[in-house]
Amino acid sequence: MENTRFFIDYKALHAIFILIFTLLPSISSAEELNVYSGRKAALIKPLLQQFQEETGIKINLVTAKADALIKRIESEGESTPADILITVDAGRLDRAKKMDLFHTINPSSISAEIPNYYIDKDNKWVGLSKRIRTIVYSKNNVNKNDILDFEDLAKDMWKGRICVRSSNNIYNQSLVASVIANHGEEQAESIVRKIVSNFAKNPSGNDRAQITAVAKNECDVAIVNHYYYAMMLQSKDTKQRQTADKVDIVFLNQKGRGAHVNISGIGIMKYSKNITNAEKLITFLLNKDSQEWYAKVNNEYPVLGACKVTDLLSSWGVINLDEEIINKLGDLNPNAVKLMDRVGWQ
Ligand code: FE
Repeated sequence: MENTRFFIDYKALHAIFILIFTLLPSISSAEELNVYSGRKAALIKPLLQQFQEETGIKINLVTAKADALIKRIESEGESTPADILITVDAGRLDRAKKMDLFHTINPSSISAEIPNYYIDKDNKWVGLSKRIRTIVYSKNNVNKNDILDFEDLAKDMWKGRICVRSSNNIYNQSLVASVIANHGEEQAESIVRKIVSNFAKNPSGNDRAQITAVAKNECDVAIVNHYYYAMMLQSKDTKQRQTADKVDIVFLNQKGRGAHVNISGIGIMKYSKNITNAEKLITFLLNKDSQEWYAKVNNEYPVLGACKVTDLLSSWGVINLDEEIINKLGDLNPNAVKLMDRVGWQ
């Protein structure tokens, strides 16, 4: 009799254990993170999938234009499902910060090897990759020694020879903010006014269109982000490669403050219900393997030092970067926008 009772209890216990172990995976997979990304899915999805596999935290990825996502998060208010925002440009990240959309990231979730320049001074966002806004020039029509600094573009010799996209583009706003940060507003205005007077035509099209315009001799230099040139050079499309072959890239201000650099970055939403998991994702995206993959897929530079870059980027050597002012780009954005308006940058 005693033995039977023991046998029944043992069986019940066994059943409870089985139940717990069957339920455990579904309990952990109930953990989710909603990631809103202004970047194309291909540039982030494989990494998010890897995070999901390693942690059991299910990732729901929403991709759309960054400004539309920011508007959506703002209008959703406290009820927003968004836990994370990934987007490009410190100017835009800072706009979301000033709209009070971000939670303060616990600094312990950010690798100590990430330089402070790439982290918001109030820990509202952190960079994921670096991009350089610089010059491509016509191999036929330009002697590369004629442009060493961004300020050289203000010289008369560039009259009617410069192509760049419009001033409503955040890349250009941050570039001008960097000129203000380095020269003060008055001198920045005089430099940018002269550069605008050297434009070959009214700004239109994206960065690739500016590279194409140089290849077609519509202008001799174009202000672009480095990775567009890199992608065109390595394109599967022969026409794109032929276009890129007609131009070369130069990194400016190498003997001074360094080339203008910006970031893609990430922040945790103020009303996220999954702060701990969101911080786990940030830690994951800043580890060496993630950093190398994430930078490589878009021909960018990792924010984490001592990471490998693509062969093409490493062939360009070590580039001196104007990184100390990244934290000022957001604050100076309104000044930059007004300055560009005053000097007639369309
Ligand atoms: Fe871009």
